[in-house]
Amino acid sequence: MFAHLMDNLAYQPIWYTDNYIEADRYLLFYQQQLVATESQQWLWPSKDLVNHQTVVPLARYQDQTLFLATLDSIETVESVQLIGLRRAMLAATTNERQLLGYAGHLVGWMEQHQYCGRCARPLQWHPIVRAKQCECGAPPLYPAISPCIIVLITRGDQVLLARSPRFPEGVFSTIAGFIEPGETIEHGVIREVAEEVGITIKNLQYKGSQPWPFPHSLMIGFHAEYDSGEIEVDGDEIEAADWFNLNDLPILPSPMSIARWLIDDYIKESYNQSS
Ligand SMILES: [Zn+2]
Repeated sequence: MFAHLMDNLAYQPIWYTDNYIEADRYLLFYQQQLVATESQQWLWPSKDLVNHQTVVPLARYQDQTLFLATLDSIETVESVQLIGLRRAMLAATTNERQLLGYAGHLVGWMEQHQYCGRCARPLQWHPIVRAKQCECGAPPLYPAISPCIIVLITRGDQVLLARSPRFPEGVFSTIAGFIEPGETIEHGVIREVAEEVGITIKNLQYKGSQPWPFPHSLMIGFHAEYDSGEIEVDGDEIEAADWFNLNDLPILPSPMSIARWLIDDYIKESYNQSS
């Protein structure tokens, strides 16, 4: 398993019941984008906070109490820039990236879940746990997390990589897809591989996981060996897939993605075996 995943989280989540009722700093979001200063600072001191917003406790981070605020308007915040969450995470340190991913996930959930799905009344914050609730008695609504498998398939010194039409030009990555109701994680891996590239796999091995807030996934990463079949792409989710030799790889996904960790890990393992 990826050793760095056993390191502590860079932050400690907090809620109203955790006695951190005063914020030292705020993370501000406007329309799901991070609000930053012109010099790309995004931890705002309390005095700069504007009105008309949802504000909730977020985390203890580097001995500070952080609150999360979503703004209805940024007109009253001077000299700001809006940064997309993905871009902000790419530019961040590892610790900052964890914090931003966590905050971005919550912001997306808060904005998408404002009304009760049963009676359509506005939802209220639950007083004890981080969830929303409705006076109609519908069960509390917790932040949604969608499990998604991701798998690197290998055949000796070759890896199977595929590209979605959504990827930047030239980029190939590992196979990924959401787990469906009723499936085990393992069933999900086997089904996604069969659907997207038409082959069967064996020796499935869990490697690690990664929260991925675009919009609310938890990536569950595997390595698998090729078993049988010829590559056949579905043409919708996957527009191309191929076997690539380890010393002739296409453009790979960002180093911050678990897809890349899976690929790099296999390259390292192969190198160690051959040296
Ligand atoms: Zn309701």
